[in-house]
Parts: sequence; C-alpha cells; structure tokens
Amino acid sequence: MFEHMGEEPELVPSGTIFTMGCTMRCLHCQNWSISQWYEEGETYTTERLARAVERLRKAGCRNVNLVGGEPTPWRQQWLETFKYVDVNVPVVWNSNSYYSEETAKLLAGFADIYLLDFKYGSNRCAERISDAPHYWEACTRNHLYGKKYGELIIRVLVLPGHLECCTKIILNWIAENLGRDVRTNIMFQYRPEWRAHEIPELQRRLIRSEMERAVEIAEEAGLTNFIT
Ligand code: SF4
Repeated sequence: MFEHMGEEPELVPSGTIFTMGCTMRCLHCQNWSISQWYEEGETYTTERLARAVERLRKAGCRNVNLVGGEPTPWRQQWLETFKYVDVNVPVVWNSNSYYSEETAKLLAGFADIYLLDFKYGSNRCAERISDAPHYWEACTRNHLYGKKYGELIIRVLVLPGHLECCTKIILNWIAENLGRDVRTNIMFQYRPEWRAHEIPELQRRLIRSEMERAVEIAEEAGLTNFIT
C-alpha cells in the first residue's frame, strides 16, 4: 500500500492498496506475482486495514484505491473494513470488471469511482488470453452499473494485433452505451510479461501505427474525453 502518483491525473495522490489474487488469468499479466499468488503477501484484519486506510487519507491521498490483482475476491472483507473507517474518503473500485451481478449490486453505494478495465471486444479473445468465459456479458453489464452508481473511468489497454477485434469494438460500445464524454484512458504501455510468449501476437510491444490507429478509432467513435 502506498501513495500512488502514477494513476490518472484526477486521482492522484491515490492511496493504493494491492490485494492478492484475481478473477482472471491474463497470460500477459504485469502483476502476475500477486494476481496468481506467487508472492506471500501479508495478512490484515479488517480493523487493521481500516487504520491503514485512515493513514493514507491523513497523509493527503485524495481517495483509497482498491486494486490487486483484483479487489473482487476480497469484496466481503472490503465491505467490512469500511465499517471501521473513521474518515470520509472516496472509494476507488479499481477492477478488471469481471465480476458477478451480485457483486455489482453490493458495490452500488459503496464505490464512489469505478476505475474499470475494458480488455476485450469478444469472448473468444477473453477466453483465449485471460481464461474468462462470458467476459463480454459481465464486463458490459458492470460498466453500466458503474455509470449508474458512481463516477466511471475506463481503462482500455491496447493489445498488439487486437485493434479491430477488441479496441474498435470496445470504444464503439463505450460511445454508444456510456456516452461519448465518458472518461477513457487508452493505454499503450503493453509489454510482454509472464506467459505472453504463449500467444504469438502478444510477444511484442505496440508499434507506432497501432497507437495512431487506436486514436483514430476513438475519434471515429466520437469519444471526446479520452487520454492516452
Ligand atoms: S485482470 Fe489484471 S491483475 Fe488480473 S490477471 Fe488480468 S492483467 Fe493480471
């Protein structure tokens, strides 16, 4: 846990707390050592975690940022932790957006800011790369919940070779269903990590023309509030 200065400008300094585990298994995961339980981590009670949240807020953080891995496996503990938090602090739900509708309902009224990844434009890509069946249905539903119950910031990590099957589908869906002015961070920092070598097109970084194409797609979709 630390004061993160590398998040979107409107969020920093962001009191970021990493938890172990994830609901997905992306073969290119940059946080694989915690998302897939290779590190040991440290055990906190919910009361102790509440004190940590308070310390981050008192140190000047604008929010507390629940991330991992993925916060969803710790949903119950997070909900309990905030019963003990004695400062007023916005909660950022920093998630891959792959969780159940039951979780989405529990988050409504708990999360202030939904910082959601939108990774794939098809279930085929999601299953092949991230072992995530029914990804599209979960991800789109949870973005709609985020839009309805909080402030929504969407992260779209552009993957090499996935401009037309993923980036284009995603950005068009966002514009049509969440509004053209929804905050969208189109991310170009993909680099091959962990088991990315198992997926042929993911063995390299993006090339310049792919970055330019992603911006072109965003403009064609009519998005007016995106950053790269
Ligand atoms: S959703 Fe994020 S943390 Fe989880 S495996 Fe994929 S890249 Fe890693």
